[in-house]
Amino acid sequence: MVSTLTTREACVQADAADALASFRERFSLPQGIIYLDGNSLGALPKAAGERARDVIDREWGTDLIASWNTNDWFDLPVRIGAKLAKLLGGETGACVATDTTSINVFKALGAALEIQRERHPERRVIVSERENFPTDLYMVEGMIEFLDRGYELRLIDDSLTAEQAIGDDTAVVLLTQVNYRSGRQWNVNELTALAHERGALIIWDLCHSAGAVPIALDEARADFAVGCTYKYLNGGPGSPAFIWVAERHVSRARQPLSGWWGHKSPFEMAVSFEPVDGARRFLTGTQPIISLATMEVGLDIALEVDEQALREKSLALTSLFIELVESRIAGDALTLITPREASERGSHVSFVHAEGFSVMKALIARGVIGDYREPGVLRFGVTPLYLGYADIWDAVEALRLVLETEEWKAPEFQVRGAVT
Ligand SMILES: *Cc1c(COP(=O)(O)O)cnc(C)c1O
Repeated sequence: MVSTLTTREACVQADAADALASFRERFSLPQGIIYLDGNSLGALPKAAGERARDVIDREWGTDLIASWNTNDWFDLPVRIGAKLAKLLGGETGACVATDTTSINVFKALGAALEIQRERHPERRVIVSERENFPTDLYMVEGMIEFLDRGYELRLIDDSLTAEQAIGDDTAVVLLTQVNYRSGRQWNVNELTALAHERGALIIWDLCHSAGAVPIALDEARADFAVGCTYKYLNGGPGSPAFIWVAERHVSRARQPLSGWWGHKSPFEMAVSFEPVDGARRFLTGTQPIISLATMEVGLDIALEVDEQALREKSLALTSLFIELVESRIAGDALTLITPREASERGSHVSFVHAEGFSVMKALIARGVIGDYREPGVLRFGVTPLYLGYADIWDAVEALRLVLETEEWKAPEFQVRGAVT
C-alpha cells in the first residue's frame, strides 16, 4: 500500500475525508497527547462513566441483591458473550465474557486436551510459538505440570516451522493471531486447516486482534478462542476476557475450573458438579458485574464499526507510520520488525532501537504515548477509532526530534517503573 501523504497538510485533508473520524468523539482522551498504546490499554469511552454510575448507584446501591434477576446480572457474561461471538464472526459458537485471558487459556486448553484424550489418547504434544505472549506459555507449562501425564510443549520458532511442529503427535495448538511484539499476523484459516489436517485442535488467542482486524471464527472452523477486552475493545483496565468454543465442541467440552457458575442448577447447592448446557459452562465463579457493565460500552462501539473500513484505515495508518519513519528519520538507529506486507500485520507497528526504553520514555515526555517491550522494542498501537493521519504525522515528528536531539540520553529517561 503506497501512501501519498507526504506533508502534514495532506494528512489533515485525509482526516477531513475519513469516514471513521467521528468515532474519535466517543472517547475521552486528555488534550495534547497522542495515544499510541490502545493495544495495551484502550481509551475510555465517554459513555462508560455514565454506565458505571448507573450500575453502582442504581443497580447496586438501590436495587441491591435483586439486581441478579431484575438488572440481568446473572446473564450478563452470556449476553455480552453473544455480542463478542458476533464481533468475532463466531455466532454459531458459544462465548462468555469472564475471567482473564490467562485463565481462559487454561480452561480452553483443559477442555481441548480432554476432547483429544478421547479421540487420540496417545497424543502428548502441545504446540505453541516461542514468540507468543509469555502468559500463554506459562499457562501451558502450569497445565502440563498439573496434569503430570507426560505432555510436552513444542515451540514454533526460527528453526521449526508450523508445518514441521504440528504433527500426528500433536493434541492441541495454541497460537496468537497477532503477535504482541512484532505485530505479525498468522493466517487463521490456513493454520486452523493445518492443525485439523494433522488431527489437532486449535485455540486462537485474539488479544491483539479483537477489535483491530476482521475475524471469522466460524468460517475458519476454529475450535476455541480466547482474548481480552481491555486492548482494542476499550473495555477498561482488567475488564473481563472472553472464551469462545465452536458449536461442535460445546456439549462435550468440560473445562477444568468447574465452579458453581458453570453448574446446571447452581442454586440447588448439589454436592457434585454437573455442567450446564451452552456457553455458561465456561464460567467458574461470581462475575465482576461492574467491570462487565462498563466493558460492554466499548464493545458496543466496536459493533457499530464496519470491520472492513476499520481494517483499511488501520493499514493506511500503520503504512503511513512506517513510510514516515523511513523517509523522515535519518540514519539506521530504528529497525522495523513489523511485516511490510499489509496482510501479514495487525494494527501496531514496532521498531527496535538499541536504547529503546529511554527513547520511549523521552517520547512519552513529549506527549506521544507508545510502549516499550523487551528487547529494545518501541511499540506503537494504532487504533483507527481515535487516531487520525495527522496524529501519525505528529507522532513520527516527535520521534524524529527525540532521536535527532538525543534527548533520550537525559538521566530521567533511564529509570524503570514496575510496568513498562
Ligand atoms: C495482553 C495479552 C494477554 C493478557 O493476559 P491477561 O490474563 O489478561 O493478563 C494474554 N495473551 C496475549 C497474547 C496478550 O496479548
